[in-house]
Amino acid sequence: MSKHPASGRPTLPVAGEDHARLTIDLSALADNWRAMARRSGAARTAAVLKADAYGIGLEPAAKTFHQAGARDFFVATPAEGAAVRTALPDARIYVLSGMWAGAERLFFEFDLVPVIVSEEQLVVFMSAIADGGDIPCVLHVDTGMSRLGLRVEDALALADDIARPASFSPIMLLSHLACADEPSHALNRQQLQRFRSVVSAFGDIDATLANSAGIFLGEDYHFTLTRPGIALYGGAAVNGVPNPMKPVVTAEARILQVRDVKAGESVGYGAAVVCARDTRVAIAAIGYADGYMRSLSSAGIPLRRTGLAGPSGMLHGRPVPVIGRVTMDLTHFDVTDMPAGSVRPGDFIELFGRTMPIEDVARAAGTVDYELLTSLGNRYERRYEAVKK
Ligand SMILES: *Cc1c(COP(=O)(O)O)cnc(C)c1O
Repeated sequence: MSKHPASGRPTLPVAGEDHARLTIDLSALADNWRAMARRSGAARTAAVLKADAYGIGLEPAAKTFHQAGARDFFVATPAEGAAVRTALPDARIYVLSGMWAGAERLFFEFDLVPVIVSEEQLVVFMSAIADGGDIPCVLHVDTGMSRLGLRVEDALALADDIARPASFSPIMLLSHLACADEPSHALNRQQLQRFRSVVSAFGDIDATLANSAGIFLGEDYHFTLTRPGIALYGGAAVNGVPNPMKPVVTAEARILQVRDVKAGESVGYGAAVVCARDTRVAIAAIGYADGYMRSLSSAGIPLRRTGLAGPSGMLHGRPVPVIGRVTMDLTHFDVTDMPAGSVRPGDFIELFGRTMPIEDVARAAGTVDYELLTSLGNRYERRYEAVKK
């Protein structure tokens, strides 16, 4: 690893030095946003940028969406909002965790729109605008998540409250779907109806309900603005149907060593796998510190939910199963069935991406693609493939 000349601290790896790399296809990212905008019909389409744009890098993602036509952006925290503001001077930036006492300054300084999530936050917001001047806000109504937002009855009471200060006029209502990834779940319709009742009580007001999966539920769910996240990043929004999005992130790890293990010998920590046949293994420079989770250990290891097929990487176009336990920095792959001489130290195994669907790897880990992406960590060399003009 090279040293930063001034500080002597290690710098991020560059091509050739990297043990693992992420290739981020910004054209696919832009295409995915346009695809969600088309599916959103007459509604405006935002982009959700929380958690470093689902792990892919906030600034390149923000600029790519903006160039594709997005003007509305959602983040989780005011600090994330400040970072988006630096990249995009003319965007509307909504902060989903709202405004809490002590964080008011950031909203004024970086022109951020708080999404008010509770009666307490409403009080904080009212006193902030009394002191600091009028800024817009969005009101979150909880219609079935039991997470953030005013209860439906409290939101209805607020809408009817003639004593409501004239200065409290949210520019938009927001709610979030609990089961949109299961289109036939009864809660989808119920949340829609509850949300509609609040929207109509507030009169002619903008509204936003649909995340990625919600967009696929159809026009009823689109309202004024849609809020896709995972689908933009190539994830599978809806369960049980083929993923229509283009893969954005490809993660690959370098093979450090190839070795032969005899039948009867064990592989890795806990001697969790004893080879039933003479086995050739490739040791790849990837582990749970890189977000290649320990629950991606091979089939039959009790770290994993039983009954699931084990995970595989992809090497020269063929799947290679993980064998043994994933460790902090290293993972064994079984390459016995690869053509003789085709596997060499220095080759890269694709962990997920263009040829190994991310949702399949997430499923094998007992998790979702959201967690896989946001756990990647910072040891990868990151390559951004520019949008083709
Ligand atoms: C994260 C988030 C989204 C985006 O959800 P996806 O499922 O990634 O499309 C939308 N709305 C809210 C409130 C969120 O927290």
